[in-house]
Amino acid sequence: METVWKKYSDKDLKKVFDFAEGYKEFISVNKTERECTEYAVKTAKEHGYVDLNEFEKSGKKLKAGDKVYVTNRGKNFAAFLIGEKPLSEGIRLLGAHIDSPRLDLKQHPVYEDTDMAFGKTHYYGGIKKYQWVTLPMALHGVVCLKDGSKVKVVIGEDPSDPVVGITDLLIHLAKDQLAKTSREALEGEQLNITLGSIPLTSNDEKETELVKKNVLKFFKDKYGFEEEDFMSAEFEVVPAGPARDYGLDRSMVMGYGQDDRVCAYTSLMSLMDLEKTDRTAAVLLVDKEEVGSIGATGMQSRFFDGILVELMTLEGNYSEFAMRKLYGNSDMLSNDVSAGYDPNFPQVMEKNNSAYLGMGMTMNKYVGSGGKGGSNDANPEYIARIRHILEDEGIAYQTAELGRVDAGGGGTIAYILANYNMNVVDCGVAVLSMHSPWEVTSKADIYEAYKAYHAFLKNI
Ligand code: MN
Ligand code: MN
Repeated sequence: METVWKKYSDKDLKKVFDFAEGYKEFISVNKTERECTEYAVKTAKEHGYVDLNEFEKSGKKLKAGDKVYVTNRGKNFAAFLIGEKPLSEGIRLLGAHIDSPRLDLKQHPVYEDTDMAFGKTHYYGGIKKYQWVTLPMALHGVVCLKDGSKVKVVIGEDPSDPVVGITDLLIHLAKDQLAKTSREALEGEQLNITLGSIPLTSNDEKETELVKKNVLKFFKDKYGFEEEDFMSAEFEVVPAGPARDYGLDRSMVMGYGQDDRVCAYTSLMSLMDLEKTDRTAAVLLVDKEEVGSIGATGMQSRFFDGILVELMTLEGNYSEFAMRKLYGNSDMLSNDVSAGYDPNFPQVMEKNNSAYLGMGMTMNKYVGSGGKGGSNDANPEYIARIRHILEDEGIAYQTAELGRVDAGGGGTIAYILANYNMNVVDCGVAVLSMHSPWEVTSKADIYEAYKAYHAFLKNI
């Protein structure tokens, strides 16, 4: 294996760095599944895709070259470039997830303690809690009001905005805290975000909780919602600020939510850059992967199944049997990140089967834990077809496992699509500091992943 940086010409380098600019902008602005969905819709429309519901109303039949997209509850997105062959001959599907680890505000979040106002949080996904304190954090939220309207809130991203955050104990008084394991050093209920410290002006001397009231007044004045509206709101507390070039040579990207928005972006763009296909090409962006792909917007939902029924119906070929053929004939890449080899932590890796930064797209035949448990173990016949395409197109790729045997493990959405009897294999980008507030990827790997996904959609 050799780093892909060595093989790039000056022209290639320009493409790699230019592509990373679009990606950095994407992850700098889109830090929730809703924001990613909105971005995908906007991008799809710009590329000539139309809302499937609108298409359905037109009464037309789906034909080769048609471009349609669907969203589900503002948190899922799917887009399809209809192929020349009937859907029952299978589709080419790229899937990625657009939820990322973070801190969610609870439903009764705001409280006051010793003349300071705070927000209670409940963390989402697997995090090392100690990584999320003493950082500038932003609030990205949506408040759903009883009248059916929605208020969007983003605070902390504009350089002129204030930020919020979680304080940590000073080292001087941390003797007991430092003696604990890092798992116990901070408790979930200590992840309270600081919201303010100025009391509301009041003429009533007996009135209490004035700092809390002042924070609530801020939300009321600026966004028009009340304390009780937090009940039907989703606020995500995420690292504030844009993604940055990482390393003096600018070869890497440091940014929030790269698991798995690095694959979401590259998957989306690879479909957008496709104009014609024999078999229908598709991209699917899902929510809730970090908490087990559950709920109506997670991969285990019947949402995707429903869209395929709709597409087949609009094609004029729907039957239960044709659906089963579609699934059995389909090929999918489950595009998710893998653990990059970190020379600071070699003990958790096995060198011959690790993903290295700068060595191209990473393919994981299986992930899982405790003897491949919970993984999709891809078929070698399928992997051979993918190797053939990647090598034909000169795309840099590597194969890896998620760390040493029994060092831990993880899962992706791969097994869920495989349950439909599709061919599925995990393909993605190696990440350092995965699930931390600021994850690191290689620009070379991002570009090779984009090229790999595009080659898959054209050729598999
Ligand atoms: Mn992931
Ligand atoms: Mn993850």
